[in-house]
Amino acid sequence: MYDWIIAGAGFTGATVAERIATQLGQRVLLVDRRSHIGGNAYDHYDAAGVLIHAYGPHIFHTNSDRVWTYLQQFSDWTPYFHRVRAIIDGREAPIPFNLDTIEAVFPAGLAAKYIDALLAQYRFGERVPILKLMERSEPLLRDLGAYVYEKVFRNYTQKQWGFGPEELSPAVTARVPILVSRDDRYFQDRYQAMPTRGYTALIANMLRHEKISLMLQTSFEDARQAFPKARVLYTGPIDEYFGCKFGRLPYRSLDLRWRTLDKEQAQSTPVINYPEEFAFTRITEMKQLTGQVSPKTSLVAEHPCAYEPGRNEPYYPIPRDETRALYALYEEEARKTAGVIFAGRLGSYQYLNMDQAVGAALAVFEKKIRNDGEGD
Ligand SMILES: Cc1cc2nc3c(=O)[nH]c(=O)nc-3n(C[C@H](O)[C@H](O)[C@H](O)COP(=O)(O)OP(=O)(O)OC[C@H]3O[C@@H](n4cnc5c(N)ncnc54)[C@H](O)[C@@H]3O)c2cc1C
Repeated sequence: MYDWIIAGAGFTGATVAERIATQLGQRVLLVDRRSHIGGNAYDHYDAAGVLIHAYGPHIFHTNSDRVWTYLQQFSDWTPYFHRVRAIIDGREAPIPFNLDTIEAVFPAGLAAKYIDALLAQYRFGERVPILKLMERSEPLLRDLGAYVYEKVFRNYTQKQWGFGPEELSPAVTARVPILVSRDDRYFQDRYQAMPTRGYTALIANMLRHEKISLMLQTSFEDARQAFPKARVLYTGPIDEYFGCKFGRLPYRSLDLRWRTLDKEQAQSTPVINYPEEFAFTRITEMKQLTGQVSPKTSLVAEHPCAYEPGRNEPYYPIPRDETRALYALYEEEARKTAGVIFAGRLGSYQYLNMDQAVGAALAVFEKKIRNDGEGD
């Protein structure tokens, strides 16, 4: 009765379901074991009437014209430029670390020397990875790099991952920049906006089609038993699909602690990072992301912790060589499994932003579904 079973109603599953229904006219059974659509981007109104991102703050940004144009069909978008501050040595300062941050955390004379040293070597607007700065021969630049590494990056990374930066894949450490500018936007992408009525409403619009049937609180395994002949797109954890036969892929999780305050606004910026103090990494004020007007405000503090199946959610794949090697074993199994396509954050054991998840899902549809009658 169904041509396809899609496991997972997050951005990946929703995108592929929408494409199969509208472009191929085939019937899709979309299942999710949770009680809602949207995957980790799910948002809803809390008891105080504030729109919150239930699995942690989600900010949309992309440089992809294709993804941006595709998503325009399903929602109005409100421009939103994300801003983050961090508490460094007891002072609140912009992140990414930029020229204003230097002036906020150092005495005026020293700040001027650091800024002169940066501008002598780099052009205004450049993003300089802190590891590159730490390799410079000029002592001022080296010191500045070491300060940012120590104060902003090392502790935050240790809290976030439970590992120091040197124990993680260089892809994580190499990215963190100092901005030789006063641009305090957290992202520099061409498109930065929030879906005006939220992510759940956006994904509900993607799924509104007569060829798409949705079943919540339903696992893939049950759907598979009921419809064994349907082809499959699986966006759940790839290790679980294979009964974790090579061992479990590890994830980092978050203990999200929510509170609502009886005031309109609590923070100077939507997100405040706490690289040094406390066990949490950051606090987000939801209304500042969504633009909602309300007399109350809800905030969430993120306490990173290990993923324990059944107790919390698998959030972040751990970026280490040994986890990539373990994933490669499952990837090989996946290659040999006819009729099932693995995709998405959990299916490819890869941290994907929402735009990357949508972009990858569009590519999967084009390459493995539209142009390949058999799937693979
Ligand atoms: C804390 C946090 C913050 C984030 N912030 C941002 C951000 O600011 N900006 C950004 O662009 N991205 C952000 N992301 C990433 C974003 O959440 C992902 O891009 C997105 O969730 C990927 O969608 P997906 O469909 O691949 O996976 P998911 O959203 O994880 O959806 C997978 C779905 O599959 C279901 N499922 C799993 N196994 C089964 C099964 N066996 N049977 C049935 N259903 C199953 C799950 O219940 C889940 O709903 C963040 C992620 C996290 C964890």
